[in-house]
Amino acid sequence: MPRTLVTGGAGFLGSHLCEYLLAKGHEVIAMDNLLTGHISNIEHLQSEKFKFIKHDVTEYIFIAGEIDYILHFASPASPTDYLELPIQTLKVGALGTHKVLGLALEKKATLLLASTSEVYGDPLVHPQTEDYWGNVNPVGPRGVYDEAKRFAEAMTMAYHRYHNVNAKIVRIFNTYGPRMRLHDGRAIPAFVPQALRNEPITVFGDGSQTRSFCYVDDLIEGIYRLLVSGINEPVNIGNPREMTIQQLAERIIDITDSKSSLTFKELPTDDPKIRQPNISKARELLGWEPKVDLQEGLQKTIAWFKKQL
Ligand code: UDP
Repeated sequence: MPRTLVTGGAGFLGSHLCEYLLAKGHEVIAMDNLLTGHISNIEHLQSEKFKFIKHDVTEYIFIAGEIDYILHFASPASPTDYLELPIQTLKVGALGTHKVLGLALEKKATLLLASTSEVYGDPLVHPQTEDYWGNVNPVGPRGVYDEAKRFAEAMTMAYHRYHNVNAKIVRIFNTYGPRMRLHDGRAIPAFVPQALRNEPITVFGDGSQTRSFCYVDDLIEGIYRLLVSGINEPVNIGNPREMTIQQLAERIIDITDSKSSLTFKELPTDDPKIRQPNISKARELLGWEPKVDLQEGLQKTIAWFKKQL
């Protein structure tokens, strides 16, 4: 039975990963300092095969016994979170990644780094392929996240090349689904409650900026395939179905049968104008592509938010 550590295990993606890995027969250790993660995301997983350790991964990590896989998902990940927690975001991406790589080296474990489409910044290549180096403002408010993840990728490749750590990098594009935090500032957790309460939907800018939203179950499947693959270079995982933020808002109003109208607010600094993953690499090398369409994914997500309200 593989023994696996998931950092950020009490977060949105981390908790889905823990659940998936347990179902695959792994023994799972979830590590989280509960800064943006929540115990309620993993309470239902309690069993002798699952352990939770409250720990900040920027501090030295000690785990007794063997570890086969490490999935490094600890980080604030919504724009609001990393604007409120800029130092912690930089530290977990830099120092935290160094600590988990050290642990992977010590345990001879396979490590998978959760990276992000934010490494492409406000992209000048569209859709984004893995060989695009990005257009990032290092000193802007999003720089704390973007540059931390870019450093984390560089550090991961250095441990792979210099120490032969079997390391993988997934570049995660916008993902949604149950267990997203209410009011974490992202578009879907903002729009769905607003629509359910018939309140105005806060569209930033003129709503013409685009994103491509992937349902969480599809993302987790892609990540698992990458984890057990022989690939050591970055792979985009996301859903290439691109839409404008105004279209997203209108879709949510439609599905929730809401009376909400749109209200336009100032566009945050450095908000990317377009974003769409090119997933040719994931298709060819992992035989992966997303299966859940937006309608189905949004319905499941809306049902979950309804329970939270
Ligand atoms: N957005 C919006 N209203 C909100 C929250 C977000 O219009 O209440 C916009 C945001 O400016 C961005 C898009 O929705 O253009 C996606 O934002 P999100 O925070 O979900 O993800 P990211 O910016 O990291 O792609």
